[in-house]
Amino acid sequence: MTTPRVHTSELRGTALANEIRARAASAATELTAAGTPPQLAVVVATDDGSSAWYVRSIARAAAKTGIQCTLVELGPKATAEQIRTSLTALSADPEVHGIILQTPLPDGVAFDDLAAAIDPAKDVDGANPLSLGRLTANLPAFAPATAAAVLALLDRHEIELAGRHAVVVGRSTVVGKPTAQLLLQRDATVSICHRHTKDLAEITRRADVLISAAGRIGLITAAHVAPEAVIIDVGTNPTDDGGLVGDVDTASVQGRVAGVTPVPGGVGPVTTALLLQHTVQAARRR
Ligand code: ADP
Repeated sequence: MTTPRVHTSELRGTALANEIRARAASAATELTAAGTPPQLAVVVATDDGSSAWYVRSIARAAAKTGIQCTLVELGPKATAEQIRTSLTALSADPEVHGIILQTPLPDGVAFDDLAAAIDPAKDVDGANPLSLGRLTANLPAFAPATAAAVLALLDRHEIELAGRHAVVVGRSTVVGKPTAQLLLQRDATVSICHRHTKDLAEITRRADVLISAAGRIGLITAAHVAPEAVIIDVGTNPTDDGGLVGDVDTASVQGRVAGVTPVPGGVGPVTTALLLQHTVQAARRR
């Protein structure tokens, strides 16, 4: 039996990101007029190139949205104590509404431990373990922007979740785990795969909705998908020529699935827009 060819839609994120940013911009204008100009602080302790690219894109988007973005550059040799001191000071600063701790961190510096120093009310990227705990307990909290972006994209493209099988590839604290929690909250039946999963393709082929957040180029191919599946590609893997590719071998799945998000132009722009939306939400609650 040959696999039937199906029309694959490209589930783009750019239009959705523009809408989210436009709403955040009008909220930012109101907040500024009311004397609370929203401010996002990004703590950077790396000289990693793709991280620098991401931080620049956040700063650019913030500037366009009327949100002040303050980069706190601690350098790649920063100690855990220096980073913690900075996060604690920003948490106490009434003029700062959102805080992001950028990764990677210097060797030997653990992310989760430090993220606990971010005030949960300012934790716009859901990095503090308390935020993930609250999310898991169905209590209000900021979800990591990437996980929230996955759900926003699925909703935007009217992908049904209740009772359907969602497979998340990757179990990181920043992406895989919170994405699985959000899908569970929406009544999906959720499977989580990771590097010890035996026969990945056997599980992913049973996905109605497949979310790949493994950071492996070419991990998801035609052999991993069912014809009616919708794929959200969270991978952002730098290529040798300075480009960006996802986890999904797009050429191979093309015509064999219902929809797939492009990289770039899928989850990425929505993630950045949601960080800004979370920042104005945090500023409003003050
Ligand atoms: P991210 O920040 O994108 O979530 P991490 O590097 O923190 O990425 O985590 C990668 C995740 O992907 C891990 O949970 C790991 O188990 C999973 N993973 C990596 N390679 C594979 C693979 N070949 N098959 C299944 N899961 C994988």
